Amino acid sequence: MRAYIPAYQMTSPSSLNEALDTLAQDNKDWRPFAGGTDLMVLLEAGKLPHKNYVNIWNLHELRGIEVSDDFVTLGALTTYTEVQEHPILRAEFPMLCQAAKETGGIAIQNRGTLGGNIANASPAADSPPALLAYEAELELVSKQNERRIPYFKFHRGYKQMDLESNELLRAILLPRSADPLKHYYRKVGTRRAQAISKVCFAAVAQVAGDRLERVRIGLGSVAPIPIRCHRTEQVLENRFLNDETIARACEMLASEIVPIDDIRSSRDYRLRVSLNLLQDFLSDLKDS
Ligand SMILES: Cc1cc2nc3c(=O)[nH]c(=O)nc-3n(C[C@H](O)[C@H](O)[C@H](O)COP(=O)(O)OP(=O)(O)OC[C@H]3O[C@@H](n4cnc5c(N)ncnc54)[C@H](O)[C@@H]3O)c2cc1C
Repeated sequence: MRAYIPAYQMTSPSSLNEALDTLAQDNKDWRPFAGGTDLMVLLEAGKLPHKNYVNIWNLHELRGIEVSDDFVTLGALTTYTEVQEHPILRAEFPMLCQAAKETGGIAIQNRGTLGGNIANASPAADSPPALLAYEAELELVSKQNERRIPYFKFHRGYKQMDLESNELLRAILLPRSADPLKHYYRKVGTRRAQAISKVCFAAVAQVAGDRLERVRIGLGSVAPIPIRCHRTEQVLENRFLNDETIARACEMLASEIVPIDDIRSSRDYRLRVSLNLLQDFLSDLKDS
């Protein structure tokens, strides 16, 4: 079914302040409209959940990638193409660049935004696992307030977020690491291009000899939200990388994720693939 277009309203503010003023109006339920690559699919299907949209695409305050000593800060409107082209992101956050490269086709990469991927809150989205493993933080703004939260606390349940209806996601902050990290990102789908993930695995590790010093793991499509696997990380951190550690980590991961059966895959397949990827990540570290 195609939507009845005049049933929707869109306003295009020329500044962030104006956008926040509109979102603060409580007589209408305004929602942000960024690249529209998720929202247009719903529009076409006649399933747009809201009727009043604020077009944020032209807000320069939500654009740009800034680099400081401690963080790389990406405006919420940063596109996948911009992620892939940025030299510091390529050097220090290669998993995010890989996620961007494997997201949709060129048109989606030119138009889809990182902020939209996060706020669309799909458990199968491809950048969240990398953002979780890199311990990203989010900057949220409203007319009254500005706050920063760790990304792993943002998703609260299926499509539920720590995001008020008057708030915008302004930026994503990636903490830079002084120590060299090993990065491992795998998107498993039905085919290599243009597929929705069955499992998406992202992990970083800091290794000293055969000891794991720091491990961060993010997974997509294995729970109602993208998850950071804190308990599996704890089993691995400050341990020697041997078969026993790997077996214990797999046991913990199996208890930490809650994959489901759906049209794209089965619970058993997702579980098996997640464990295989963890093993592969840890074996790669052992061999390096
Ligand atoms: C053909 C196709 C292929 C795709 N392939 C992939 C894929 O491989 N991997 C993947 O992960 N995704 C994929 N997607 C989904 C989509 O492209 C991404 O999720 C994209 O990042 C969404 O960004 P957007 O700017 O277009 O969001 P929009 O559609 O504009 O918005 C999405 C949601 O986020 C909210 N929102 C947007 N920006 C903000 C903000 N700054 N603050 C608060 N809320 C905000 C909107 O209100 C809306 O609810 C695909 C989509 C299509 C149509």
